Amino acid sequence: MKRNCPECGDEYTGRIDKKYCSAACRATFHNRQNAQNLAFQRNVNNILRHNRNVLAELNPDGKANVRKDRMIDRGFKFRYFTNEYRTKNDTLYHFCYDYGYRVEDDKDKEWVFLIKRQEYVE
Ligand SMILES: [Zn+2]
Repeated sequence: MKRNCPECGDEYTGRIDKKYCSAACRATFHNRQNAQNLAFQRNVNNILRHNRNVLAELNPDGKANVRKDRMIDRGFKFRYFTNEYRTKNDTLYHFCYDYGYRVEDDKDKEWVFLIKRQEYVE
């Protein structure tokens, strides 16, 4: 059965479960996929670390009220966080590692309340 190698494009024949023309093409293909996966993970990790550092910078005393704009100006990405925590009062916090924030419901959600995690770890 004739197929084309997904790495080099060459036509090859062989067993139905043979997916590449050669071991070299298979290795090259997988190495590149691994590199792309690692690059993606590194990218997300960098965003999370940056978010955490923005929170730390804006919250030196452990608690702070800041305008959302100030976080966005510093490149904070609200879609990226490490975990959520919901209090008994049904207040939702998002965390980037040890720093957390709560988007206030009122005032068009332009204020954010920042906290630092103390003993809570889950
Ligand atoms: Zn090939």
